[in-house]
Amino acid sequence: MSLTPQQNLRAYVDYLRDLGIYDLYRRDEPQTLLPELLRTAIADSVSRVPMAAPPPVPVARAVSAAAAPLPPRAALPPRPAASTKEASPFDLLASTLSPELAAPMPKPIPFDDLAPLPLKILSPAERPAALEAVRADIGDCTRCPLAYAGRHKIVFADGDPNARLMFVGEGPGADEDASGLPFVGKAGQLLNNMIGAMGLKREEVYIANIVKCRPPGNRTPEPVEANTCTQFLIKQIDIVRPEVIVALGATAATYLLGVKQSLGSLRGRWHSSRGAKVAVTYHPAFLLRDPRQKGEAWKDLQMVMGEMGLKPPAKA
Ligand code: SF4
Repeated sequence: MSLTPQQNLRAYVDYLRDLGIYDLYRRDEPQTLLPELLRTAIADSVSRVPMAAPPPVPVARAVSAAAAPLPPRAALPPRPAASTKEASPFDLLASTLSPELAAPMPKPIPFDDLAPLPLKILSPAERPAALEAVRADIGDCTRCPLAYAGRHKIVFADGDPNARLMFVGEGPGADEDASGLPFVGKAGQLLNNMIGAMGLKREEVYIANIVKCRPPGNRTPEPVEANTCTQFLIKQIDIVRPEVIVALGATAATYLLGVKQSLGSLRGRWHSSRGAKVAVTYHPAFLLRDPRQKGEAWKDLQMVMGEMGLKPPAKA
């Protein structure tokens, strides 16, 4: 028996509930286009699928309320096959939508266009408390699906609130998820070596990621996850006001700069974001997989060193 798109969508709402996902969106916060379309489509589907349940309620509320009445299990269409469980809930949902609804996310929006640059630059003494306030605002965040994807710790940032140089990666891995600090695993060790080769110590730079919760299986963050979480990174950048940001990998570059281009086409030249100069280089995890690219990454770091007047440490 083939299911209508509406029945499929209803099945996936049930599927998400089974995954423990009840509160995907906050109704008082800006939504990105695809989730809004999904919400509309799901709400539409709920209203059309015949079921012995009360009249539909807005999906945001319906999904939030674990106790919301559900139709009898037998009345629901079957859940997605087990083999589809590897896909993210958004892939599953999008796969049921009309081509218009399932269209890819619109092109990323540069950080510079997401919020005006604050007029006031905080003094060095004010920055630690301002960053703590951002961390407090994040709280035990459930603003995006990564809150329900098995994270253990929210990985806020590490380093000097007054750093001249900031590194932005993609998201926490297993070691970071366990420790609550960014770049502490093998890739973190390599990043520490890269920072040392630039004549700096890790404590002298500021390190953060596009998303603060670990994507399951270290997959690339979904646009809805990155677009939701980057509001905090923008605040962190605006507080620290680094002179230079190094985007580690394509995901960091995509969201910082609002461009979807190959890493190769972005490397070797300067970009800008939030008043800082931005250089793009390989993610340390990629360099661990392909050490032949370390020389290329070193060229990128030398460009940064030239800009900042940094010198490699003298050899002992
Ligand atoms: S990734 Fe960011 S927005 Fe998503 S739950 Fe974690 S802290 Fe919140």
